[in-house]
Amino acid sequence: MGTTSYDFSNEVVVVTGGSSGIGRAIALRFGESGATVVNADIDEETKDPGGELPTHRAIEERDGDAEFVRTDVSDPDDLVAVIEAARDFGGVDVMVNNAGIYIDRPFREVTPEEFDKIHTVNVRGVYFGSQLAANDMIERGEPGSIINTASISSNVAQPGQVHYDSTKGAVQMITRGAALELAEHGIRVNAVAPGVIATEIMEGWSKGATDAIKNEELVKRPPIGRAGVPEDIAGPAVFLASDDADYITGTLLDVDGGWQIF
Ligand code: NAD
Repeated sequence: MGTTSYDFSNEVVVVTGGSSGIGRAIALRFGESGATVVNADIDEETKDPGGELPTHRAIEERDGDAEFVRTDVSDPDDLVAVIEAARDFGGVDVMVNNAGIYIDRPFREVTPEEFDKIHTVNVRGVYFGSQLAANDMIERGEPGSIINTASISSNVAQPGQVHYDSTKGAVQMITRGAALELAEHGIRVNAVAPGVIATEIMEGWSKGATDAIKNEELVKRPPIGRAGVPEDIAGPAVFLASDDADYITGTLLDVDGGWQIF
């Protein structure tokens, strides 16, 4: 039992959407593992309840190295600037394309603007985040690893989520396709696929997620019997980037409390 310690000293990890929720937990865990962390988010402040310090400050408090670069992942120019910022520390070794948004809307009501918005963040952000990081790694001759945040929605349809599911299905195929093309360069590409995780992605969700599961208000309970927390995703993400996962590429690692078993 116990958690695994990884050593990412001298490695530079970019985490998109690292200010809150799953991305913040991943960023903090990489920081604890000795990595220099670049948090690329549209907001510097965290939305997490009780999360007092912005992510980069929290890492520095714990004697780590970190920087915040204000970034909208839907704009490839912003992503270029993030990769350049990572070069100041030696260049990106691990690119975590995590930023994502959610809109709750039935299939028949989604507007073209809402469709475009969610796809530019959730799909374009992951696509060009992966492409730009890979090109930089290849140019520097230092292959690393790419981790994307997919979802149970990469595999399973849920009511009111067609537009979101389609973005996460795309993340699954970007992960597999990029893994295929980048393997010859020594770059591995994998994804974590979280289940129901208590974060602020749906406004106020974290406050009620665990209670909702206890009270069986959710359509489906994960067999493990609780909502996940962001920290549940951090270890698996760091593992996929580690040398222990050297022979793993193109994989979606389900981290969902067994949600997809039945
Ligand atoms: P969150 O809202 O707590 O955090 C998302 C972070 O992304 C925030 O810091 C936000 O500022 C940032 N962000 C949003 N748009 C951005 C943009 N255009 N550019 C840069 N940063 C941006 O949400 P979360 O639940 O931690 O979600 C993180 C990822 O996990 C998303 O890709 C989401 O789809 C995925 N996911 C979440 C769950 C869940 O149940 N919470 C389940 C499966 C997958």
